[in-house]
Amino acid sequence: MSDLSGSLGELGFAGDDAVVPFAVEGLDARGRAVQLGPMLDSILARHAYPEPVSRLLAEMIVLTVLLGTSLKFQGKFIAQTQTDGPVDLLVVDFSTPSDVRAYARFDEARLAAAVERGETEPEDLLGSGVMALTVDQGAHTQRYQGIVELNGTTLEEVAEGYFRQSEQIPTTVRLAVARIARREETGGFRESWRAGGLVAQFLPEAPERMRLPDLPGGDLPEGVEAFEFEPDDAWLEVRALVDTIEDSELADPEVGVERLLFRLFHERGVRVFPSDGVRDECSCSRERIRDVLSSFTATEIEESIEDGRIEVTCEFCGEAYEFEPSEFDPEGEGPAEEA
Ligand SMILES: [Zn+2]
Repeated sequence: MSDLSGSLGELGFAGDDAVVPFAVEGLDARGRAVQLGPMLDSILARHAYPEPVSRLLAEMIVLTVLLGTSLKFQGKFIAQTQTDGPVDLLVVDFSTPSDVRAYARFDEARLAAAVERGETEPEDLLGSGVMALTVDQGAHTQRYQGIVELNGTTLEEVAEGYFRQSEQIPTTVRLAVARIARREETGGFRESWRAGGLVAQFLPEAPERMRLPDLPGGDLPEGVEAFEFEPDDAWLEVRALVDTIEDSELADPEVGVERLLFRLFHERGVRVFPSDGVRDECSCSRERIRDVLSSFTATEIEESIEDGRIEVTCEFCGEAYEFEPSEFDPEGEGPAEEA
């Protein structure tokens, strides 16, 4: 007996590219789960990065979607890594209510060497550095930023660490990325990217059940464990169930988010809530890029001119914008002559 079957009838299956909030009241747990399909595939196909980079960026996208859609806010949620590995920069930003864009920066020679050595796990490609998670609610508001260290850790561990530090809520995270081949009607196969993710948090009504000792404010001193918490039995059960999720199952369109939740939690009465759809959409525009260029000094404008024009390509979506240098000449004297 479970609420889920009833809820499924009411809400239908969310399908791809929709984040499904859920609650397991018998275990005092709440969470969100998602499978990304066409939205993820279109972002990665456009960039056409080498496979290990696409895979890594896909993990970041799932994580960002899970975290971004869980925040009650309007604005942007930005996840960015800056590290010393072959992939030194990943940026994923989520704009409420649904828009996602992402890009990666990597060193081709170092990446090729890492692939040669078989070191293509996310933690190998990233190396050491930080992940910054920023909530930006626009002008006139304070930006909130959490920084988590990346040091040979998986993105799942990074996310769990973030919640420990920032919210002190026990959290478990699973992420999986898959590439599947589908037979085309014309014969042959087309490969596409998929991913799945699930985050579950322990939110008992009695806060003392979380049994978290007070944390010092801000980042923990070097060498101090985040906390030693003796988990509640209910939370141990949630973790044990989440641990049974196979990567293939998490991203499998035949399984879907609701079937996965049912398999994990039906004995404890899992309920699902209306899903939040996400899509591949970049917020760049001519006007926004013009605003950025307008803040350039005359020298910077001059340095941006190539063949008499200024061309700016959006890193996220690849859209190219062209401007006349004279648009940015405060004196109205037209562009400086190229030698
Ligand atoms: Zn763009």
